[in-house]
Amino acid sequence: MTVCENKDWAQTDLKYIWHPCSQMKDYEELPPIVIDRGEGIYLYDTDGNKYMDVISSWWCNLLGHCNPQINAAVKKQIDQLEHVIFANFSHRPAIELCELLMKVLPEGLCKFHFTDNGSSAIEAAMKVCFQYHEQTGNPQKTRFMALSEAYHGETIGALSVGDCDLYTKLYKPILMDVIRIQGPDCYRCPYGKNLDNCNCECAEHAVKTFKEYGEVTAGLLVEPLLQGSAGMKVYPPLYLKKLRELCDEYNVHLIADEIATGYGRTGKMFAFDHAGVSPDIICLSKGLTGGYMPMAIFVTTQKIYDAFYADYNSGKAFMHSHTYSGNPLACSAAIAVLDILKDGTVLKQANENAEYFTRIIKEKFASHKNVGDIRTIGLINAIELVKDKTTKEPFNSKLRTGYQIYKKALKRGLLLRPLGDVIYFNPPLIIDKKEMDTAVEIAYECLLEVLP
Ligand SMILES: *Cc1c(COP(=O)(O)O)cnc(C)c1O
Repeated sequence: MTVCENKDWAQTDLKYIWHPCSQMKDYEELPPIVIDRGEGIYLYDTDGNKYMDVISSWWCNLLGHCNPQINAAVKKQIDQLEHVIFANFSHRPAIELCELLMKVLPEGLCKFHFTDNGSSAIEAAMKVCFQYHEQTGNPQKTRFMALSEAYHGETIGALSVGDCDLYTKLYKPILMDVIRIQGPDCYRCPYGKNLDNCNCECAEHAVKTFKEYGEVTAGLLVEPLLQGSAGMKVYPPLYLKKLRELCDEYNVHLIADEIATGYGRTGKMFAFDHAGVSPDIICLSKGLTGGYMPMAIFVTTQKIYDAFYADYNSGKAFMHSHTYSGNPLACSAAIAVLDILKDGTVLKQANENAEYFTRIIKEKFASHKNVGDIRTIGLINAIELVKDKTTKEPFNSKLRTGYQIYKKALKRGLLLRPLGDVIYFNPPLIIDKKEMDTAVEIAYECLLEVLP
């Protein structure tokens, strides 16, 4: 095979590749940026341009690209064992990973089931939840509840529990029928409350929904504290406590989708840590391997596990599998991540930096006439752009305001990728103050170019 030195990588890409979450026609104007290498929070393309990755490459890169410690761990593992069937067989990296996770997970979660991406962890959790009730004398519990504007992934089951029109609307005819709870909306709070005087009055919708459907519901899925795809919408921990109480009252499993919020993104190891209560099942991915390998895990309680533990012929086993379950390379990356996080220094530093980040973002953006809301949790900061600040009226989505800003920012070496008209930062935890200064400066200049 000959390697053509002057190959036009972008054109060759477009000849073959159908990119995720993209209108491919957009690539006529903005061809794919072909990344050659990464280091820290930076990506370098094949033309030598440098980009600051303040969205952690879709929220998964936790400790920088090509982190030397994770690199070394994966390199070591690849010469030892690349993969093995995970039914009847096991390996040290998976076992060690569970031991390490036990030290940081919310109380009561102790049985680990491995899958290979976030959506499949959600679906596996839903299946286990349904089957639990089936096997414990509640076969009427066949339904799931989820919040308005939820996002839990893209496969049919995960999409069904989701509620972001952009992804779900078209597919409604082939999705399962899910019970929707009107969730918190703190920026446009219908009760006119703010974070200082809020008592999660909006939980009354959950109360009402449980009264009506609690008896037939197997599980409630929730993105704790932060609805990412909905536009980085943040809500208070008290809401989770109220959901926990309702779930207990109606024997409904609380399924925490911590795929985006886990691993320090909200300032604590897990978002549920802010609430002081535990879910019955937690789903992890993204930060789990530091953004290195596709892997996900759901972790559940002894009680749920026990409902499946019986003689084979009772038919109670959880007969669910993915070929790459528990992949040793992914486990080795995940162990390295926990090794880096275990003494708490990274998270402590990230939390200190988070205060600084929010301050400079507010200083820069708050007074702009189209900045409706600035919301923050951990190092995540989101800026919602609106047409009218007083009425909070959004821009016409056809204007693609966020996308215009995205394109400007790319030209200046900043990878933003807004969610609609919500510009956000969700950087690797290792970002430093100088990098924050630069990111905020560039983002603001781009905002001014599009909305002077
Ligand atoms: C990314 C994400 C998922 C889906 O994970 P995939 O690995 O992309 O399938 C599910 N839930 C949340 C909250 C996510 O952010």
